[in-house]
Amino acid sequence: MSEGRLYIFTGPTVSLIVAIVFLLVWLYQKERRHVLYFAAAFVAYAAAALSQILQIPPDIGQNTMVSAIIYTFSIFCLVEGVLARFEKSGAGPLLFSVAGCILLLLYYFFYFDRNLVARIYVQNFGYGLIFLVAAAQIGVIRRRPWREQVLFWTIVLFGLHFFVRTILTMRVSSRIYELDQMRQAGADTQALAAAFRESPFWQVLNFTMLVSAFAVAIILLATIALDVIEDLKRQGAVDPLTGLANRRGFDQLAAERMADRSLAPFCVVYCDLDHFKSINDTYGHLAGDRVLQAFGKLLAAEVGHHDVAARLGGEEFVVLLARSNKAGASLFAERVRAEMDITRFTALPLHVNVTASFGVAEGRPEEDMLELLQRADAMVYAAKAAGRNCVIVERDGGA
Ligand code: GH3
Ligand code: MG
Ligand code: MG
Repeated sequence: MSEGRLYIFTGPTVSLIVAIVFLLVWLYQKERRHVLYFAAAFVAYAAAALSQILQIPPDIGQNTMVSAIIYTFSIFCLVEGVLARFEKSGAGPLLFSVAGCILLLLYYFFYFDRNLVARIYVQNFGYGLIFLVAAAQIGVIRRRPWREQVLFWTIVLFGLHFFVRTILTMRVSSRIYELDQMRQAGADTQALAAAFRESPFWQVLNFTMLVSAFAVAIILLATIALDVIEDLKRQGAVDPLTGLANRRGFDQLAAERMADRSLAPFCVVYCDLDHFKSINDTYGHLAGDRVLQAFGKLLAAEVGHHDVAARLGGEEFVVLLARSNKAGASLFAERVRAEMDITRFTALPLHVNVTASFGVAEGRPEEDMLELLQRADAMVYAAKAAGRNCVIVERDGGA
């Protein structure tokens, strides 16, 4: 024990609190598996620190190895969690090899060539390396959202801090080098342990680990919070039945696309399934839902990267086509119409086909989306009046 200096328990205590927070978040959001890894990392970090502070197990050699194994496990859980967050396949053979080498070298530098300085370098540089290898595994980050970039650079900086801190503190801490000499001169373990705790190295280590681990914890928590907000936003903009944008999503995405003048001209293709009420009435609502899903899938497969397909509600869908004039939009609508006409559904008898009517209108400068939708919708009415299962394109200058 450390002569009643309670502050040395700050690190493990803060870690345990952080771990509990992660655990509570995970219990509430179990699909976020990486949060459980973060909880495990901070529990292990607290356990490793406590094993050193309380000297459990008491034998110095065993204590060195046990705490090193738990620290390494903690680092591994953190890295595994970050990789899981980035949907990477987890710690690969390279990471396991680095961790294995760290433990083997620590064993060697305790039991074969007892050397505290070597152990300090092995452990810190090894951990730094684990973070950098994990960062390399995450790979190119430039196109990812900013919150992921922050997480990525946090991991890189945390990894680098192991190198920088060790080099700087070893330079100012001649005491560490003296410790090996003291041991060779026959100093007892109590005196050695006390001298180690007095060393600037140990003080700086505890301080920087506390600050950096806490900073990492805050950034991890912030990332989770932002992930949740982002998911909620996305759910609010997506139609759960078809996975296409809903009305709100369409308005947002369409506004984004139309603000980019390089994507002009724009066309809207409005689609309404024919006699859909009778499909529901005859074959049931569930069969109707399957048809809606199939039509959504068909649209999703046909649209390009800059286009927006959405289900506005009921059996009405809309597509905003970028870089498309009425001729191109008409071809698009005709393709979808023909495809739908020949599609057969497992939810319906084989002889039943479901058709759709389409209205096409081209966007005008300074026109808002509502007007454009109304013009395309008017063309759908015309298509219904013309017998359904057809495409009507607005004539130049209006209907
Ligand atoms: P028309 O050819 O003139 O468009 O006739 P319609 O029957 O398709 O048009 P109507 O607007 O009369 O009926 C639309 C139907 O769509 C009514 C409603 O039961 C059905 N519907 C709306 N939302 C859903 C849904 O989420 N699932 C299912 N299965 N049906 C829906
Ligand atoms: Mg309708
Ligand atoms: Mg309809």
